[in-house]
Order: sequence, then C-alpha cells, then structure tokens
Amino acid sequence: MSWPTGGPAPRRDDPTASLVEHLRALLRLRTVNPPGDEILAARYLAGALEAAGVPARVLEPFRGRGDVVARLRGDGTGGGPLLLLSHLDVVPADAGRWTHDPFSGDLADGYVYGRGAVDMKSMVAMSLQVVLDLAAAAHAAGRDPAHEPVPGLRRDLIFAATADEEAGGLLGAGWLVDHEPDLLRADACLTEAGGVSVQAGARRLYPIQVAEKGYHRMRITVHGAAGHAAMPRPDSAAILAARLVERLAEPAPQRVTPLMRQALETVAAAVPATTGPVKRIVDAADAETALAAIDELCREPERRALRALLRDTISPTIVHAGIKENVLPGTAEVVVDCRQLPGTSAAGVEALVAAQAGEGLWAACSFEVLSHGEPVEQPLDHPLLALLGEVLTAHDPAALPLPLLAPFATDAKHTVRLGIPTYGFSPLRLAPDEPFLERFHGDDERVAVDALRWGYPVLADAVRRYCG
Ligand SMILES: [Zn+2]
Repeated sequence: MSWPTGGPAPRRDDPTASLVEHLRALLRLRTVNPPGDEILAARYLAGALEAAGVPARVLEPFRGRGDVVARLRGDGTGGGPLLLLSHLDVVPADAGRWTHDPFSGDLADGYVYGRGAVDMKSMVAMSLQVVLDLAAAAHAAGRDPAHEPVPGLRRDLIFAATADEEAGGLLGAGWLVDHEPDLLRADACLTEAGGVSVQAGARRLYPIQVAEKGYHRMRITVHGAAGHAAMPRPDSAAILAARLVERLAEPAPQRVTPLMRQALETVAAAVPATTGPVKRIVDAADAETALAAIDELCREPERRALRALLRDTISPTIVHAGIKENVLPGTAEVVVDCRQLPGTSAAGVEALVAAQAGEGLWAACSFEVLSHGEPVEQPLDHPLLALLGEVLTAHDPAALPLPLLAPFATDAKHTVRLGIPTYGFSPLRLAPDEPFLERFHGDDERVAVDALRWGYPVLADAVRRYCG
C-alpha cells in the first residue's frame, strides 16, 4: 500500500515528532463509535507500516470496522511474542463545547487536541513508532524486517490496533480472539491504561493496570399505580423511580481488595503525608469515615476514581417514565450500570442493588440483565510487570510504580481469554496539575507533547528490554 496522500513523511531523526504527526493524522480520521469506521485508521496504519517495509494485515470482518495487525520477528530465543494492543475507535464529541475542532488534530499550546488524543490514539501512535524505529534499525543493519529477525529482538513483537473497544470490543479484539487467535497469541500484552504520572508529594505515582472491574448492566422496571394527574398519588411509578435512583446513588459499603490494600500501603510508605488518611481508609468501620478519608487523601477527579476502586458501584444511566403530561405512569424504567470489584459475583451485584433500594421499594421492581462482564485480574509475578517498574524508575527517579485496579473495562477482557497476561501501560509524564482522568471522553481532550516526549522512550525501552 502506498503512503496515504497528504499523510506525514516519517521522520527518523526525532521519534516524538514522527509519532506526533502520526497521532495528528489519526485524530483527523473520524473513527467515532458508533458507527466506528475504524477501517480508515487501520488502512492509514497499514500504509505507514508498509512504507517502513513492515507487512501489515488489514481485517474488516464487519463493514467499516477495521483492525490492523503486523509482526516484527525476533530470533525466537527469548520466548513467545509481546503484543502491543490498542484501539482505533473513539467516543463521540460535542464540537460546540470544544475550543478546537475535535477532529482537527490541532497542535496548540504544547498540546495535541482531538477526540482520542488520550483514549487512545496517542498509544496507537507510540506503538506504531516503536515498530517503525525497530524496522529502521533492521534496515540500518542490512536486514529486511519483512522476513528477517530484527537485530536485538529475541521475541516477536506484534502490533495490533483494533475496532470497537468503546462498545465492548466484540467486533474488534473480541472478534480476533474468537476467529484469528493466532494473530494475537503472545506471552504478554501491553494496552491502555497505565504508566501515567500522578503527583503525590515529592513522588510521582505511576499506576500500572493489573486488574479491572467487571460490569453488570440491569434494566429495572418499577411498577407503580397509574391514574389521573389531577389527583396525585405517592405510588406513581415516576415517584417510585425517583426514590429508587436516589437510593441507588448512595455509596455502597467499602471493600478493600488485597490489590488495593497493597497499593494504598505502598503509597503510605513512600509519601509521608498520605500515611494518616490511608490508615483511616483501610481501617474505616463505615462508608462515611472512609469517604471522608478519601477526600482528605486526594482531590477530584482522583477522589472519584478511588471511591470507585474501593466498592461496587451503581450508576443510574437511563431513566424513562410517562406517556402523557396528565397521566400518572404505571411503570418506569431505570437502567443501571454497575461495576463490580474482583470477588463480587453477578448475584452479589443484584443483591447490592436490592439492598440499596430497600425491601419495600424493591418488591415493586422487576429487572433483566442487559450485559455482564467479569472482573479481570492479571498475574502479579510476571517478569514483564517487574520490568515495567524498573523502566519507569530508570526514566523518572521520583517514580513510584503502582500495580493498580482500573475502575473501567478495557480489551484486556478479551486477551485474557487467550491466557495472555495484559497490563495497562501507555506511559506519559504529566505536569502536576494536569487533570488527566477528566480528559478521557472529556471536552478538549488533549495530550501534551512533552508527556509524549517522555513516554515514548519509556515504552520503547520496555519493549526492547522485554523482547531483547
Ligand atoms: Zn480506551
């Protein structure tokens, strides 16, 4: 495939400049899911890979839903491959709320703007650049990366960028796992989201995602009494649904999983100012005490994240009631998106929803399960995980690598079905006041070029050291 018209020429001298240009080009491609159209980005990446002499396979199992996979060879003496997995789709953007067109790839004030700049086309571009640089090294050594091992690689390196992660990944990574597993099979995988700095006193925490919460989505039907709106009644379905939403929004009891306990204790030991609040969180006898200690420990939006990592959560997301302005509705619908910790079963989530609703109100409800995903836990003793910590510390002496749970779901749900240990590692070092968590799916999503300039060598080192 030829280099796409108008695309950037690769810059071998400055990998950050090269990856930034690839990132900007990717941000200009509208891969909004739905409908997706990830094929645009898959073809772009295949073009960039093939221009560097790396054969790339584009798959389009569903119209417009593209994936791209490429492989660099090692000499095979180091073990099975490392998989760099990223997703090409992005969530919609409301352009009226942005200061830059979300699909412009604008470079301004040291940031690259665009929907997907953080989630996760920056990691797509970084992963691509790793492959391009290794291919260039092969050429420089007189080897053809299309057929011959890349000097210094003892394992294969697989690059895969896939569709549909923002809708569960079933048409992307999930489809590949089910239908083309050999394209992905690896000893280990790196994907979103981790390796991004969070300032804590004099230290910088680098959460590495080693587990993720599950999800359990329920459509609850509230059965009330219908009637004439001129004679109000407290048991109309709209009133009951409002009460239900309010009760479900109350924080559930805290549960500190072993991983979260370890993470909190690691931070407490390294950052003296956190010792008191961490102890109060871990020892808390009730939710209020724990929540107050979380407020003491960190600011928004980290607070929201930490609250979610210490309990099963319930978010009412869709509420419907009523058919006419003067009729009291007899039924109402409340859809809830629950996220369960490792160790909480589907039945456990449903019991929590019932308990939060309260016996009387729950007796007026029925429900169906819309979708369910199990929590994921990766091995904590994998050599790649230890290596990620070493690489972070080598590039940032203030680094505190922190294996952590993620409150959301990623394509790791699919790779674990192939038994591939999958870690969230898309390294960036941010300015201390950068509200990174708010960039995900947020207005003016953007990533700092300086963050990429630090992060790219970290990712490249991690790959070279694991594969070398
Ligand atoms: Zn993502």
